[in-house]
Amino acid sequence: MDKGDDVIQSKKIVVLGATGTIGKMALDVLKKLKNFKVVGISAHKNVKLLLKKKIEFPDAFTALTGDRVEGVDFCGEDAIEALMEKTLPDQVIVGIAGFAGLKYALTSAKYSKRLCLANKESIVAGGNFFLKNVRDSNCEIIPVDSEHNAIFQLIEVEKSPINSIFLTASGGAVRDVPVERLKDVTPEMVLKHPIWNMGARITVDSATMFNKGLEVMEAHFLFGFPSDKIIVVLHPQGKVHGMIKLNDGTVKMLASKADMRLPIAYAIHYPKRIKAFEGFMPFGEFTFEMPDLSRYPALRLAYECLKEGDGARIVYNAADEIAVEAFLKKEIHFTHIYKIVERVLKNGWPKILDDYESIEAVDVAARRLAKEMVRRCC
Ligand code: MG
Repeated sequence: MDKGDDVIQSKKIVVLGATGTIGKMALDVLKKLKNFKVVGISAHKNVKLLLKKKIEFPDAFTALTGDRVEGVDFCGEDAIEALMEKTLPDQVIVGIAGFAGLKYALTSAKYSKRLCLANKESIVAGGNFFLKNVRDSNCEIIPVDSEHNAIFQLIEVEKSPINSIFLTASGGAVRDVPVERLKDVTPEMVLKHPIWNMGARITVDSATMFNKGLEVMEAHFLFGFPSDKIIVVLHPQGKVHGMIKLNDGTVKMLASKADMRLPIAYAIHYPKRIKAFEGFMPFGEFTFEMPDLSRYPALRLAYECLKEGDGARIVYNAADEIAVEAFLKKEIHFTHIYKIVERVLKNGWPKILDDYESIEAVDVAARRLAKEMVRRCC
């Protein structure tokens, strides 16, 4: 650890989704830092791992959003609220995956000063409603999603107007499979991500680019750029995580190892930067090209959804999650994922949603419809 880090006072931090991919990495980061005290950890169902983590972080209260279990401090729907009330953390790392992240991110914002947000669904589904609530709670968001974290870092220090932003995409595990053969790719093939080590859904979403579609929406709300100023580029090496183009055409890039511990460490220390991990990677080859939309129709669909309004974004996320689950269970083909989402979107959805109940209702309805579409595909 750098000498200068000692001047930061010890901060209380809660890790939500502590047993998931991001949560485990966050705890790995926090284990090495003396200036943070982990006061709370949560999980949805994985009690065994939650209690194992509790041994490593004995000061942490535990919360389980699933059913009540002996030995866990807070359980059930209100567990996160109870955990926040008890610990009043300075920061919360929101590592929960999926739509549930929205509710718990809103709760966290009420009690904490900073959300280190890895849950993209809260921004995609919550949109302006979510951002306004977080702002009204006097809480700041530091994005942990690697592309957004990179763009946040670039924008942070830029004094000139920014013309557009670039999100990089690896193209996923089946990027070299001919388009006409994508129908036959298996979950085993798709789950072998070439660069990042992530959860199953996001790895599938990376191959379809639904993940990048969600990230375009996330970037729109986080940074306020219109959709035509958010450009996705294929960068198979996964070394550059975000870029900004300035008015004179200059492009600034952020490059580091593809290791989520770097954006996590940055988000919790911001505005400081610490050297807890070696982020430098050998330069080697850097290539950038525009993605082929016939291979990644989900990307085009994301831009359409952004124009369609609040309901469409919620549906894009919810229907995809259901379709990905079905693909992983081998109930549908890989290419059915896009078709299901597209069909559910055609149902027509509300353009403006400004309360949690209406947002949740659209999410529930979209999931129900997507399940019906899955049954028809089987
Ligand atoms: Mg990302």
